[in-house]
Amino acid sequence: MSDVRQHSSAGSGGVANRAVGGEQLRLRTIIDQVADGLVITGADGLIRFVNAAAESLFGRTADDLLGEDFGFPVVAGESTEIEVLRPRGAQVVAELRAVGIDWEGQNALLISLRDITERRLAEQQAHELAREQAARAAAEAAESRYRRLAEDMTKLAEENAVLYDRAEEASHAKSEFLAVVSHELRTPLNAIIGYTDLIESGISGPVSDTQRAQLKRVKASSAHLLEVVDDILTFSRLETGREEVNAEPVDYAVLIRDAVKLVQPLAEQKQLPVHVETPPEPCTGETDARRLRQILLNLLSNAVKFTDEGGVWLDCHEDGDEMVFRVRDSGIGIPHEYLDRIWDPFSQVEESHTRKIGGTGLGLSVVRRLARLMGGDATVESQLGHGSTFTVRLPRRVISSRVVRANSAYMRAR
Ligand code: ADP
Repeated sequence: MSDVRQHSSAGSGGVANRAVGGEQLRLRTIIDQVADGLVITGADGLIRFVNAAAESLFGRTADDLLGEDFGFPVVAGESTEIEVLRPRGAQVVAELRAVGIDWEGQNALLISLRDITERRLAEQQAHELAREQAARAAAEAAESRYRRLAEDMTKLAEENAVLYDRAEEASHAKSEFLAVVSHELRTPLNAIIGYTDLIESGISGPVSDTQRAQLKRVKASSAHLLEVVDDILTFSRLETGREEVNAEPVDYAVLIRDAVKLVQPLAEQKQLPVHVETPPEPCTGETDARRLRQILLNLLSNAVKFTDEGGVWLDCHEDGDEMVFRVRDSGIGIPHEYLDRIWDPFSQVEESHTRKIGGTGLGLSVVRRLARLMGGDATVESQLGHGSTFTVRLPRRVISSRVVRANSAYMRAR
């Protein structure tokens, strides 16, 4: 370039020189009109010529560039893209093409540089826009999926609530029905037991030994039926939250002896001794006598039911503010893995075996729930083949449900 410029600016020679100089000036003017940057490098890679477009592309003057190493790898016949860093930090992207030429009798490269910065920028922006649109579309799709899912879940929850309400209603209705039926059964059963007692006592006329033995069987069966009805009634009242504790003054020793009397006919049938150990009389306290009798009767009749040899023991003692009742037997025992489950309603250890013996599977669940309702608890220890011990701990002074309710209303009001 410097050569060209020198030639063009030193055009003051002879006519021929002037003609050559004029030619070069025209050529120079044309080359400077070209929009692409043009650079000629020698075989040594040093810049020999730059046009105006190349000057503006590099952001440097021809004087600055001439004689410098071009600095980019260039192969004749190939085109590449280069990134040019201008002096003030701006970056330009140019498409580079090179062809081999002869420059003043030497091998050289004519390099054309087209500024494609804006094209690249536009491409980049278009690419980013497409990416943004794709991301937005994906987000919108995810949102609508989520919205549909949320709608489905709400619908499902509503349907569930309706089903739950219906199930609750059905369960409530079932418990109500059981409560009514059990109540209706209880009244005539008590009459049967009462009149049997009356006949047995001989008040209504003499009773033979055979009749007395048969009356005992009537009483045992009626007592068993009453126990089953009582369990169903209590279970349904517990289920509907209507079971109440009605505490009254009692003598525990008397209460225990009464409970044993109820199970005696069944034990006699199996020729099983029932041993009772009561605390010294009077052993007073306050409890729901009917509920405690039901607890003891359930445990005692189970003990008799599941024992063929040995015996059944019932003892009661005080422990601080509590009364502890223990029902022990030398019966079949309970497998370890069943010790928790037997407290669930309708749960029996071995169906076929239990069916042979009979029972509803409600007794122990009623025992534990009643014990807890009265402020205590029921537990079991057992060894398979050796027998079981059921323990019930209750406050010596049980508090009535009505008092508990009044107290909590008072606490709420404070
Ligand atoms: P049911 O006696 O009517 O079957 P329970 O709730 O009273 O129902 O008892 C549940 C189960 O626990 C019984 O079926 C029996 O398998 C077991 N069980 C209860 N008491 C005893 C006991 N004293 N000895 C052995 N197994 C017992």
